[in-house]
Amino acid sequence: MKAETATTDVPTAGAGDQPPVVVARDVHKSFGRVEVLKGIDLDVRRGEVVVILGPSGSGKSTFLRCINHLEEMDAGSITVGGVQIGYQVHGDRLVRASDRLAARQRLTVGMVFQQFNLFGHMTALENLIEAPVGLHHVPRAAARGRALELLEMVGLGDRADAYPRQLSGGQQQRVAIARALAIQPELLLFDEPTSALDPELVGEVLATMRQLADEGYTMIIVTHEIGFARQAADRVVFMDDGVVVEAGQPSAVIDAPQHPRTQSFLARIH
Ligand code: ADP
Ligand code: MG
Repeated sequence: MKAETATTDVPTAGAGDQPPVVVARDVHKSFGRVEVLKGIDLDVRRGEVVVILGPSGSGKSTFLRCINHLEEMDAGSITVGGVQIGYQVHGDRLVRASDRLAARQRLTVGMVFQQFNLFGHMTALENLIEAPVGLHHVPRAAARGRALELLEMVGLGDRADAYPRQLSGGQQQRVAIARALAIQPELLLFDEPTSALDPELVGEVLATMRQLADEGYTMIIVTHEIGFARQAADRVVFMDDGVVVEAGQPSAVIDAPQHPRTQSFLARIH
């Protein structure tokens, strides 16, 4: 096991013989006496797009946050790109990683939140070069070049100097997606990226995510957008009450759910 993994530029889709990007096994997490994750298993292959569906409070955000070190699990294991989260090899033992190493491991995972979370005092461009320059020590000129490319890619090449408050919610979220890409992540996590948007702005953000899926990025997306899941997901995972109830191809889980809990959830949100 390596202490760090190499980042890839644009990952290639469907590489069959590579190890999974994410391997989660029997992940448990409690807050106080409330067990929120009750043994989650999930493998995500390189280039795979996994959509997680589930009712509010079922533990979806907590699970994403465990993958990205924002939350510490109580039991189980998660590896991202072959590196076990929260641990490092010390001689022949696996010991808890320092906060510093956890921060470094986190760098290969890009995350997009419901509330955009852009730095309000920085322009779109500055938001994008902050992490590459500050954390990855990428030369500023190179970071700037890549940031402009990414803004172009999400359709905001002409808004590089705009501050978040000068952008619509949909534009802000596309900047947030570009910012997540600026660290050249091997994995992208989305936590209800369109839930805070006015309905007419949802489409442009979903289109950007669809583009990333087509480009072969490995993505885990928590969303209630069933149409997006049907079109873009390779696999849909339905979570309820801290467990994976049902998982499979979108057509199976969405259109022919086997479990009564999946059926009643889908009936409620359709
Ligand atoms: P979801 O994203 O599926 O809506 P969450 O993972 O946000 O679910 O939350 C699952 C449960 O864990 C909820 O009951 C929530 O109140 C609780 N929870 C989440 N984060 C915390 C926290 N930091 N402290 C205490 N309880 C929390
Ligand atoms: Mg949530």
